[in-house]
Amino acid sequence: MTAQDLTAETIVDFLGSIFDRRGTEEYLGEPVTMGEHMLQGATLAEQAGHSDEIIAAALLHDIGHFTSEFGTFTMNDTEDRHHEDAGAEVLERFFPSIITDCVRYHVAAKRYLCATRPEYMRRLSEASVHSLNLQGGPMSEAEVSAFQSNPNLDAIIAVRYLDDAGKQDGMDTPDFWHFAPLLQRLVDQHCNPVAI
Ligand code: FE
Repeated sequence: MTAQDLTAETIVDFLGSIFDRRGTEEYLGEPVTMGEHMLQGATLAEQAGHSDEIIAAALLHDIGHFTSEFGTFTMNDTEDRHHEDAGAEVLERFFPSIITDCVRYHVAAKRYLCATRPEYMRRLSEASVHSLNLQGGPMSEAEVSAFQSNPNLDAIIAVRYLDDAGKQDGMDTPDFWHFAPLLQRLVDQHCNPVAI
């Protein structure tokens, strides 16, 4: 199945199948797998009483690492696709923009926080500091003020902190399917608002 074939009825199962089949892949340089990483973020969001949108965004923020699932790569591509864009692209038909913004800008949020909160960079994992440099380093002043105009800024920052927190060796979490009803509710609200 490609991203184009997905519907409001199949998207949640499709996302779950990615966790089931590929969630055990390594998260380079971190003590957790990719699946554990995203489940930890979502579990921490739930425990902290965050909104459904924040929980969903934490759960799905790195889904674009599995880009081959979405058929996004073509031989015409001239450069690597950024995983945050790939993830947001597959989600945007089914989820509200607050969620897709959190996904699309979770890398930018790291660059933003490094520029605006000096203590933030000290707390980053070694792998995250390394990727920061590949991602362009801390934002410039102009980039910071442009970023601050995003209406979903607070949610984007909240998900970034959950992303950073979800790298704990041995943390217990429920599996993906615990969050499936919450995701389906959000999809239904977005795709079929009149019927709710
Ligand atoms: Fe992440």
